[in-house]
Amino acid sequence: MDDLRPAPETSDDSPITPMMAQYLSIKQGQPDCLLLYRMGDFYELFFEDAEKASATLGIALTKRGKHQGRDIPMCGVPIHAIDQYLQKLIRHGHRAAIAEQTEDPTEAKKRGNKSVVARQVVRVITPGTLMEDALLDSSSSNFLVCFVANASASEMALAYADISTGEFAVMMTDHSRLPADLARLSPSELLASDQVLSSPQFAQSLGGQAFAISPLPQSRFDSQGAEHRLKNHFGVESLDGFGSFRRVDVAALGALLEYISITQVGQIPHLREPRLERPEAGLLIDAATRSNLELSKTQRGERRGSLLDCIAETVTASGSRLLGEHLTMPLASSLAINARLDVVEHFLGAELLRDDVRSLLKSCPDLERALARVTGGRAGPRDLAAIRDGLQTARKVMECLVRQHDLSLRPQLLNQLVGSISNAPFEIAQQLAQALAPELPYLARDGGFIAAGHVLALDENRKLRDETRQVIANLQAQYAETTGIKSLKIKHNNILGYFVEVTAQQADLLKASMVGHEFFHRQTNANAMRFSTSVLAELEQKIALAASRALALELELFKMLCDDVTTAKGAISHVARALAEIDVHAGLAHLAGNRKYVRPRIDDTLAFEIKGGRHPVVEQALAQQGLPGFSANDCDLADATRLWLVTGPNMAGKSTYLRQNALIAVMAQMGSFVPAMSAHIGVIDRLYSRVGAADDLARGRSTFMVEMIETATILNQATSRSLVILDEIGRGTATYDGLSIAWATLEYLHDRPRARALFATHYHELTALSKTLKSLHCATMQVKEWKGDIVFMHQVVAGTATRSYGIQVAKLAGLPADVISRAGEILKGLEKNGGPKAISLLTDLPLFSDRKTVERKPDPLREKIDQLMPDSISPRAALELLYELKVLARKDIDES
Ligand code: ATP
Repeated sequence: MDDLRPAPETSDDSPITPMMAQYLSIKQGQPDCLLLYRMGDFYELFFEDAEKASATLGIALTKRGKHQGRDIPMCGVPIHAIDQYLQKLIRHGHRAAIAEQTEDPTEAKKRGNKSVVARQVVRVITPGTLMEDALLDSSSSNFLVCFVANASASEMALAYADISTGEFAVMMTDHSRLPADLARLSPSELLASDQVLSSPQFAQSLGGQAFAISPLPQSRFDSQGAEHRLKNHFGVESLDGFGSFRRVDVAALGALLEYISITQVGQIPHLREPRLERPEAGLLIDAATRSNLELSKTQRGERRGSLLDCIAETVTASGSRLLGEHLTMPLASSLAINARLDVVEHFLGAELLRDDVRSLLKSCPDLERALARVTGGRAGPRDLAAIRDGLQTARKVMECLVRQHDLSLRPQLLNQLVGSISNAPFEIAQQLAQALAPELPYLARDGGFIAAGHVLALDENRKLRDETRQVIANLQAQYAETTGIKSLKIKHNNILGYFVEVTAQQADLLKASMVGHEFFHRQTNANAMRFSTSVLAELEQKIALAASRALALELELFKMLCDDVTTAKGAISHVARALAEIDVHAGLAHLAGNRKYVRPRIDDTLAFEIKGGRHPVVEQALAQQGLPGFSANDCDLADATRLWLVTGPNMAGKSTYLRQNALIAVMAQMGSFVPAMSAHIGVIDRLYSRVGAADDLARGRSTFMVEMIETATILNQATSRSLVILDEIGRGTATYDGLSIAWATLEYLHDRPRARALFATHYHELTALSKTLKSLHCATMQVKEWKGDIVFMHQVVAGTATRSYGIQVAKLAGLPADVISRAGEILKGLEKNGGPKAISLLTDLPLFSDRKTVERKPDPLREKIDQLMPDSISPRAALELLYELKVLARKDIDES
């Protein structure tokens, strides 16, 4: 990718400039990328790249010279603003290659006046290989994922890396779980062979999820080459120390590493040793369930309103990313979950300690991402400062944890985290603290970032540079004096260097002065004439030399500091991870304390017993709006009642209830306390949640087809350890078809996977199954009827709903009174005569056109309240009114 191949031949005889030949040669190696070609202070794009970039970025398209007799389209972006332009290009699905000048222009000149400065691609930027803060979301991971399958597709692997944090792992997958695994990783970019990408089965597995996909030739997936590459990179004789990888795992990891190496042009940022992730270690949640439960984002695609947004109390960027990771992949091992819960409990009980740790972490920079930039050769002085500050915070956090509690009182996981921090290279923090100046530029090449007094030679050169500047000021004063021209100035620009500037009229005075012979003419402008002198030229050289020596020294020191950090990258990376984990656990403890969440009891039983459970997001939303509190509800899916059939009117809270139990399970298994009075959960292996039905017209599937595909997935994949939430299955088709499917689904769930399940429905006929299905428990949402209206109690009680109250809800929603009354008649007819037989009778009912408009019955109580003007009523009149209202209410109740 980084090869510079020979320039293509031009088809006509027009001469091709050496620069254009170089451009074309570089571009030939980057056919899929927009090539940003460095020219001075700009990156220029030419030809089709220029047209695409100008359209995407909304910048002017100009032209530069001709090629094959035609104008060359061109556009450019200033280098100082490159990040914001790159962000836009990447967001619009482009890839970009950066060709930098790799030699000093003076070097090029030595080869002859016409020679071009050498340029090379130094980096290819793709959505999955970003490292700059400006290009990344600080609170979410940026996964580059590689999928590999063996020839018979019997073995499959997904390797993934986040080069901005050093994450590097691989996991086993298969056709059935691939969509769920991809949904969990939510890749920014997916690598796969052309062959895989052309298979319809793989397209199916993507399940409509949209990621940037980069096809690679099959040759990149050779496991032998991959093994060699991995061993080389990690400096090991064998990969066995990292885990027992299969050939597909190695091929996937190796292809990923090679892609990173190519895009970073050899300078691979720090990657942690490859981790083998066991599929059974995590709770499997497929894409539909994630979207349905609105785990990380709402169905509208926003983070606000999601579970993640509701529980995020972390105070660092890396903590917030890790919390997102924990939520997207809750654990499935009771041991590991309890280890996390122990730490949360510890922080919950030690409020002072928690506050201290959190306030220390608040000022902690993004150590992980700064480390990635240092090791990837893209750091600036501020990244070194971030390493310094991150390590210093780590020391303080460690001291805080160690000071306040003795080892035996700390949970084991917290001790491990403290252990990781204690191995930090604190001496590097000290070294950086001594070396770095208080104010730091963004780029190293701007200089001025090494503290005064740190290196003698640098101080000397800076002094020389700065003193000579003073000498220039003195010289200006001296020339002004001797020539008698008070406004004479010594100025500087990049073309002339230093020069003396006077107005055209003053130029004669200058020449006629005693020292006039010392001044030689350099340039005449409209309003000024510019001169130089040998003294000035000499001074200029001295300044330039001292300044460039100072900068060279700073850059050398910068490289040394970066090298030191790189040498300690493993330990720093562990510290960064430990701080992120501490932030997550302390944040969850803070959340539990504020919202009165409890520690769930997690074990390997098949229990699912929630007492007083609440929906975390709805509860928070009600609290924020100052509305009456959330009504807590129990749920017990013990073996004898492992399948709950929930009936109840529309709007009564069925969906909320179903979802809240799924969310409590997710929160518990990610290691969080849960919104309940108590919770006992036997670890769940797979979680499925389907609510209603949604069209997927883009993929050519109707509402009902989507519903059935999703139901099929659940019935085929759920196990006795799974938790299944089904809301209104079978609603997308004719009543009897739907009822039959729902009926059979319930029976199957009960007898085959024997999963713990909550099944909400408006098919009240299904409650008859409680006679035949031993573990079926009927529950219903309690409502009260009052004068034909319904009042939702939001309470789940044992029993079955007799009616759906759909018409009452429609009335609440404001359907015209005519429609409500007509629907009431039809319902009566249907209920009386039952099924299709009723239809013929219904058609005999008078049509709207033949009916009188239904008047809403006057409601004196409502009318009285409506007329009430609280601000203009005296206390006495208010009291009387209250008595009046009470009388009206009493009358109402008696009548009803
Ligand atoms: P439908 O059958 O029409 O889909 P539903 O029975 O599934 O309705 P939900 O959508 O769950 O009803 O709830 C309706 C509204 O009731 C929600 O918007 C929520 O604000 C409120 N609600 C639900 N459960 C509770 C509760 N336990 N406490 C307080 N408010 C609740």
